[in-house]
Amino acid sequence: MKLELALRPIGLLTIGYAAPGYLVDVPFYRIGGTLVIPGSTVKGVLRSSAHRIAPWLGMVSCGEVEPREMAAKHAALKPMKGEVCEVCELFGAPGRRSPSRLRVSMFKPVGAVRTVKVPQVSLEDSTLRAARGKLYVREAIAPFTEFKGVITVEPCEAKHARLTLAAIVNARFEPMGRGGLVDFKLLNYEASNSEIDDQCRMLIDTLRRWFYYEVV
Ligand SMILES: [Zn+2]
Repeated sequence: MKLELALRPIGLLTIGYAAPGYLVDVPFYRIGGTLVIPGSTVKGVLRSSAHRIAPWLGMVSCGEVEPREMAAKHAALKPMKGEVCEVCELFGAPGRRSPSRLRVSMFKPVGAVRTVKVPQVSLEDSTLRAARGKLYVREAIAPFTEFKGVITVEPCEAKHARLTLAAIVNARFEPMGRGGLVDFKLLNYEASNSEIDDQCRMLIDTLRRWFYYEVV
């Protein structure tokens, strides 16, 4: 299955980039000078989203995003008998037997990108009070900036397509990077009849419109 998706920030989105030479403390991620959202960032959000949504689809989830902890979590999942959970079957787990079926391309901007500098105060982790002298400036992308990317699932059975599509629908409520929710809209898809079922088609219909811009 192949999904062509558009993505738009709802708030002021920052995907941090640790590189010197910029006039802000936390510049937005770039490749060759172009602001982009790395596929790994989108995939990470989708994985968390899939863990949250899996029980609602009757699927088994270890709930783990830290690779080192996955084996122990899977060993404790009785019905899996040492195999990986259904979320890790789609997103991959350490080890040769569990490569990722799901790939996410870089999300590139469509047209001009408007950025804003957002002053921010760091909070002390323990007290949530403002840390002294910890004012920093992050570079954020303004709402309405649109990005496009591609998600592929291969090999794909209907349950993999269902979990992928449900994870994208639910990812509209999952935070990405620093400061923000993002909206997703499905532009185009390719899937054979063996890869998707009626539930998948319902989720595809749901994704045909922006949630925050057209539904709410
Ligand atoms: Zn797992």
